[in-house]
Amino acid sequence: MPTSSDASLASLPPHRKVHVDLGERAYDVVIGRRLLKSLPLLLGAGQIRGPYALIHDRAVVLEAGDIEVSLPDVQRSSVPSGEPSKSLEHYGSLLRRLAQLKIPRTGTVIALGGGVIGDLAGYVAATYLRGIHFVQLPTTLLAMVDSSVGGKTGVNLPEGKNLVGAFHQPKLVIADLDTLKTLPAREFSAGMAEIIKAGAIRDKALFERVSVTVKPDDKDLDVIVETCVAIKARIVENDEFETKGERALLNFGHTIGHAIEKATNYNTYLHGEAISLGLRAATWLSVWKAGLPDADAKRIEAALAANGLPLVLKPGIGRNAILGALGNDKKVAVDGKNRWVLLKSLGEASSDWELPSELVEKAVDLLYST
Ligand code: NAD
Ligand code: MG
Repeated sequence: MPTSSDASLASLPPHRKVHVDLGERAYDVVIGRRLLKSLPLLLGAGQIRGPYALIHDRAVVLEAGDIEVSLPDVQRSSVPSGEPSKSLEHYGSLLRRLAQLKIPRTGTVIALGGGVIGDLAGYVAATYLRGIHFVQLPTTLLAMVDSSVGGKTGVNLPEGKNLVGAFHQPKLVIADLDTLKTLPAREFSAGMAEIIKAGAIRDKALFERVSVTVKPDDKDLDVIVETCVAIKARIVENDEFETKGERALLNFGHTIGHAIEKATNYNTYLHGEAISLGLRAATWLSVWKAGLPDADAKRIEAALAANGLPLVLKPGIGRNAILGALGNDKKVAVDGKNRWVLLKSLGEASSDWELPSELVEKAVDLLYST
């Protein structure tokens, strides 16, 4: 967002800003409370013009009375809540709706919702008329700190998650923390898993702050979100298209986490919950292989537990199902081997570790008890 018109933003409530510096594709992430009420002002300051196609999570507008989107020249489309909406079917109907509404190339798609809506609407924006402007209004903690930043958009196929997509950076992201008031506690915790991960890989001070319970009305939630967004922004700036390995650091805890999601058919855990288990396993792998002190591993476990996240698998989840799913993680390197991200110390991750299968099995086994 160009900052030349900052004067007109003087009437905005207090807010924080992270600039994502991607040259021609640069944008700001604005973080604060009561921001959605100033949406027209923020869009105007960024010269992000209508007509606007607002794509929103049905549950968000119905349940979150605080969300007031008062835009002129806006056409709304609602999408049912939940991962099944990230489908080719919803993608196709949204494209057709934009065409029927005659949204021009100069128009803007606005996503209001969690990561599902952001990924889906972002992919619509990336491909409609070969790409139009896109704005993210994330309403889950996970979307604020993770999915709304970095430009990955896409949908799922019956054959697998996120198999279709495009890189398409937004023009602006507005994280209005007030929207989190209606977010179920379990969803808030799931977002905390990614924040704890970000602290563990890059920022010991952030990690320390979030090693006690964080709540939606904490006074410094804006700082926590800002810090986490900045961590992701710096990594994305260095490796926008995930070709250099740096972006892989964000996958700490995700190899075993993804395997657990897959082994449970994506119906047992929220992503962040599976990542919590994956983080615990990856943390102990870091102790065994990369020299992370035992005491730090215990602090990571304590941080996850303090934020309502699981450390132990629910009964009935088979070890072989998890180990089998580990063999076909989408992010496995071309040679078919998993490349692990491990912590050398709290706040310092490194990628490209190869691990013997016995050690990986030992880490999975650890998830069956405290
Ligand atoms: P989500 O979008 O499904 O939202 C979680 C739930 O919260 C839904 O039921 C939704 O209806 C509800 N909800 C959202 N905002 C609410 C609010 N303010 N009040 C009450 N209820 C609200 O899930 P998510 O965790 O935000 O995102 C998960 C998706 O994000 C996955 O599809 C994942 O693949 C994707 N993702 C993408 C990236 C990326 O870089 N693009 C990164 C991480 C995750
Ligand atoms: Mg994740």
